[in-house]
Amino acid sequence: MIQEYQLRILPEIAANEQKLKEYLSKEKGLNLRDITATRILKRSIDARQRTIFVNLKVRAYIREMPKDDEYEHTIYNKVEGKPQVIVVGAGPGGLFAALRLIELGLRPVVIERGKDVRERKKDLAQISREHTVDPESNYSFGEGGAGAYSDGKLYTRSKKRGNIDKILNVFCQHGASTAILVDAHPHIGTDKLPRVIENMRNTIIECGGEVHFQTRMEALIIENDEVKGIETNTGKIFLGPVILATGHSARDVYRWLAANHVAIEAKGIAVGVRLEHPAMLIDQIQYHNKEGRGKYLPAAEYSFVTQVEGRGVYSFCMCPGGFIVPAASGPEQVVVNGMSPSNRGSRWSNSGMVVEVQPEDLISGEWRVENGELAAQRNEQLLALNPSLNNSQLSTLNSQLLPLYFQEEQERQCWLQGGRRQTAPAQRMQDFTRKKLSYDLPESSYSPGLISSPLHFWMPEFISKRLSLGFQQFGRYSHGFLTNEAVMIGVETRTSSPVRIVRDKETLQHTTVRGLFPCGEGAGYAGGIVSAGVDGERCAEAVANYFNR
Ligand code: FAD
Repeated sequence: MIQEYQLRILPEIAANEQKLKEYLSKEKGLNLRDITATRILKRSIDARQRTIFVNLKVRAYIREMPKDDEYEHTIYNKVEGKPQVIVVGAGPGGLFAALRLIELGLRPVVIERGKDVRERKKDLAQISREHTVDPESNYSFGEGGAGAYSDGKLYTRSKKRGNIDKILNVFCQHGASTAILVDAHPHIGTDKLPRVIENMRNTIIECGGEVHFQTRMEALIIENDEVKGIETNTGKIFLGPVILATGHSARDVYRWLAANHVAIEAKGIAVGVRLEHPAMLIDQIQYHNKEGRGKYLPAAEYSFVTQVEGRGVYSFCMCPGGFIVPAASGPEQVVVNGMSPSNRGSRWSNSGMVVEVQPEDLISGEWRVENGELAAQRNEQLLALNPSLNNSQLSTLNSQLLPLYFQEEQERQCWLQGGRRQTAPAQRMQDFTRKKLSYDLPESSYSPGLISSPLHFWMPEFISKRLSLGFQQFGRYSHGFLTNEAVMIGVETRTSSPVRIVRDKETLQHTTVRGLFPCGEGAGYAGGIVSAGVDGERCAEAVANYFNR
C-alpha cells in the first residue's frame, strides 16, 4: 500500500529517514515495521517564524518496496540520416533544443565557439591567476554556456509547470540528483553540473548528432530571406535551418545581425553590483538564530525587491554559501557573477543587486553614448561587417544597440577602476550609502582580488542613487542586512540580454528571415537555465513544424 502525507515538521526529522518513519508511525498511526520506505515528493522551508519548519509532501510505502522511477525517462532514438538542424550555442538553450530535436526525429549539429566543459575549466582558473580572459573560453562561452560554472539554480518565475518538470527530469536522466524534483528552490551546484552537461552531450553524439567545439558561427547564410546555414571561423559551412542560442554575451552576433539587417530591438536590462555578506550573517538574519543554520538547514537565501523612482531595484541570482566570479568575456572588461558548489558551503553568501534600466534611460539621461571617438569606433565595427551601411542606417543600428553599449561602457569603466586587471572595484555597503570611500575591505570570495573604490561616485547616478535607496529600504525590512560587513563588488551587467532578436509568436521564426529560430536568453526569450531549456525545447518543436509545413 502507498500513502501520501503533507507534513510540517522540524528540520532534524525531515533530514533523517528513520526519524521520519518514526514520526509517521506516531502521528499517522502506522506500524513502524510496516513502513518499508519513504520518498519525499516536495520540500520547502518555512523560516517566517522563530521556529523553523520544513513542509514535506511524503510518500510512505507500507509493506511494499517502491517500484516507480524517481524521474521520468525520455527516449532518445538514433537520428542518423534524418534532416539536419544547426544549433548554434551549447548553453542550456542549445543543449535542450538538440535533445528535443532528437526526440522529434531530427539530427542536431551543435556548433559551440568555446571548449568542452572540462577544458574550459582551465581557462577559468587562468582568469583569476593571470588576469587574462580568453575571448572564446570563459564564464560565458564554452560547453554548458553561461550556466555551466554557476550555482545551477533551477527555479524560474514561469508558471508552465509541465515544461519545467520536463527540463528537471532530463537533468536527472543525465546525472543530476533527484532532489531537484523535490525542492522548492532546486539547485545542482558548480561541482556537479559539468558531468551532467557531458552526459547530455554524449546522448546527442550517441544518437547520431554532432557537437563541434572551438567553432564559431561568423555569419548566417541567407538567400531570399531564408536561412540556408552558417559559415564558421574554421572555414566549414553547415547547412540547415538554424536555432540561434548564442546567449547574451555574444556581442559579435548582435552586431552581425544588426549590420546585416536581421531585425533586432533594444530591450531593458538591469545593472548593479554583486553584494557579499558573511554566510553566517545571512543565516542568522533569515533563520532568526544566533547559531545560524545549524546542522539541518541549508545556507539561507534572501530575495528583495522594491521600486525606487519608477525603476525596479532587486536582488538577483542569489548564491548562498557561494563565490563571486570574474565573468568577463573579453579584454578590458570587469564583470562579476556568482556560483556555488552543491553543498553551498562557502563562508560567503552573495547576490546581484541591480537596478532596472530601460532604453529610454540611456537616450535622455545623464549618460551619453554619443561621444566622438567611441561613436566612430562603433560605426567602424558595424561598417566592417557591412560596408554599404549609410549614416542614417548606422544611427538606427546604434540606437538598437544602445543598452549593449551601456553594458560595455560600465564594464570598461569597472576595469579601469580595478587597475586594468581582473581585480574588482569594491566598497563596503554602508560606506556606499553614506558616500564614503572604504578605508579597508572585508575578506571576500572573489579570487582575483578587490580594490577599494568609490562606487557611489563613478557609477552612473541614476543607478547608484536607486541602489543606495534600495539598500536602505532592504535594511529596514531585514535588520542587520545593511551593514559594513557586506561588500559591494562592481559591476553586474549581464543580467539579461540587451537586445531582442525578434521572432513570430506562433512559428518562433525570425520575423523577416525564415528558417532562423532565435532562442534562449540571448534572443531575449529566457532568463536563466530552466527557462532557456524550456525555450530550447519550444524552438526544436517549431523547427519540426517548419519541416512539416
Ligand atoms: P548561454 O548559456 O549564454 O549559451 C550560449 C552559448 O553560445 C555559449 O556556450 C557560447 O559560447 C555560445 N556561442 C556564442 N556565440 C557563438 C557563436 N558565434 N558561435 C558558436 N557558439 C556561440 N541561471 C540560472 O538559472 N541559475 C543560476 O544559478 C545561474 N547562475 C549563473 C552564474 C553565472 C556565473 C553566469 C554567467 C550565469 C548564471 N545564470 C544562472 C544565467 C544562465 O547561465 C543563463 O540564463 C543561461 O545559461 C542562458 O542559456 P542560453 O543557452 O540561452 O545561453
